[in-house]
Amino acid sequence: MRSSLKVASIFGIEVRIHLTFLLFLVWIWFINYQLGGFTGAIQGVLFILGLFACVLLHEFGHAFAARGFGIHTPDITLLPIGGVARLDRIPEKPWQELVVAIAGPLVNVVIVAVLILVMHTGGALDQVEDLESPTIGFLDKMVYVNKMLILFNLIPAFPMDGGRILRALLAMAMPYSRATQIAAWIGQGLAVVFAIFGILFNPWLIFIAYFIFVGARQEAAMVRARGVR
Ligand code: ZN
Repeated sequence: MRSSLKVASIFGIEVRIHLTFLLFLVWIWFINYQLGGFTGAIQGVLFILGLFACVLLHEFGHAFAARGFGIHTPDITLLPIGGVARLDRIPEKPWQELVVAIAGPLVNVVIVAVLILVMHTGGALDQVEDLESPTIGFLDKMVYVNKMLILFNLIPAFPMDGGRILRALLAMAMPYSRATQIAAWIGQGLAVVFAIFGILFNPWLIFIAYFIFVGARQEAAMVRARGVR
C-alpha cells in the first residue's frame, strides 16, 4: 500500500488512506454538488466519512482481536471498496481465526445497537434509495449502512469475513488446506450466482462477483504457497 498517506497512528496501528479514496471523495463531492449544491456536497461527503469511520472501527475490531492472540497489525488502509487491516500473520488455531474474523462485524453490531438503543435512531430508513434522501437524518443512515456492512461481510466467501468464518469452522473438523479449498469453492460458486443475478438485475453484483472470485483464488493460492496444514 505504498500509494497511501498515513493520517494517524492509533494504539500503535497506522491508519492510512489510499490515494484512490481521496479521488473517490472528490468524485462524491462533485456528484452531490450537481444534485444539491454546496449543502448537498457537504452532506454527501459527511455521509461517506461517517460510513468509512464505521469501516475503520470494524477493522480495529479485527486488529484488537488479533492483538489478543499476540498478532500485531502494522496498518489499516482505507480504500473506496472498504478497509484492509494488514495482520502480521493469520492466527494458527481455527478458533482464533474465528474470533478475529467475527470481531469486525461484531463492531458494526455494537454500533447499530448503540444508535438504536441509546440514540433512539434507525427507524426512518428501510431501502437503499433512501440513503440519498436529504430529509433522512445522518444517524438513521448510519444504522442502515452498518446493517449492510454486517450482511455484506457475512457473505461466506473470501475475501469477506464470512469466508474466513466458514474456513475456520471447517478447519475445526479437517486440515487447514482442505478447509481453505472447500471455502474457496463455496465462494466461487457464490460468485457465479452473483454474476448471473448481476447480469439479470444489477450490474453492481457483477463487480462483487469478480471481487469474490479473485479473493477465493488468492486465498487458496496463499495457503498452498505457505504450505500450512
Ligand atoms: Zn472485516
